[in-house]
Amino acid sequence: MLSYRHGFHAGNPADVFKHSVVLALLRAMQEKPGGITCIDTHTGAAVYDLSSDFACKNREFERGILPLWHAAEVAPALDDYLHQVRALNHGDTLRYYPGSSQLLRQLLRPQDRLILCELHPTEQAQLSKHFHRDRRVTLHHGDGYAALANYLPPGNGRGLILIDPPYELKTELQDLRNALEPAMQRFGHGVYALWYPLIEGKHSTPDGLPEALHLRGEKWLDLSIEIAQQKRLGRMFGCGMAIINCPFRARQTLQTIAQLFNNA
Ligand code: SAM
Repeated sequence: MLSYRHGFHAGNPADVFKHSVVLALLRAMQEKPGGITCIDTHTGAAVYDLSSDFACKNREFERGILPLWHAAEVAPALDDYLHQVRALNHGDTLRYYPGSSQLLRQLLRPQDRLILCELHPTEQAQLSKHFHRDRRVTLHHGDGYAALANYLPPGNGRGLILIDPPYELKTELQDLRNALEPAMQRFGHGVYALWYPLIEGKHSTPDGLPEALHLRGEKWLDLSIEIAQQKRLGRMFGCGMAIINCPFRARQTLQTIAQLFNNA
């Protein structure tokens, strides 16, 4: 039974951090001309309407994207990201927020591909409607973990895999570990970006996910942020992005992004 709906959380501080990181990663990979296959294992919907009942329930976007949208000045490391959000809206009013799928699609070059996996039927329907005309996009209505066996290694030899589960199930970390090991065997030089929450009483240290996955070594870049007290909701006090095989040229920008969001 899937109860998680990302519409309640779209545009919150964790989303804004995650999407800025994903954008910077892909941009760095795109400095080389070879085509890239992006896989979003847990896609959610394509675009979120911030005036919907979902988004307005807790108005989480008011703690994330909205202050950035209205900021008089934006740090250069976030310029491109904000530009992508603006591209989806008309004029000065922020209404639509891009999910990871839409953001990735906006960045695709003709030689790149996007594979979107989603389990929830409502989100699947929205994705089908939104992306059906785009030949660069493949929709996988099914388990994103299992899908990795189908799509890795990618035909073009380069890949960015975003793994962004809801962490609703107690088995999530085990599922993630079970999927990651064979994925790494099939495609050891792929760039994998894993989002994880920092929850009071659960992950009390910023190195929660790499620790839990027994991941060690310099091929990892682990970025984590604490969310400023006044922007927190519930027990989530921060989040992180753990990146396997992070391209060297992306590191500086990613670290700058994490500093910008940490306690901001
Ligand atoms: N990546 C999205 C973004 O940044 O805009 C947010 C994704 S949301 C955190 C997680 C999504 O994963 C939900 O829409 C949920 O229905 C879906 N989901 C949960 N388990 C899944 C699985 N095993 N495979 C594919 N999708 C799954």
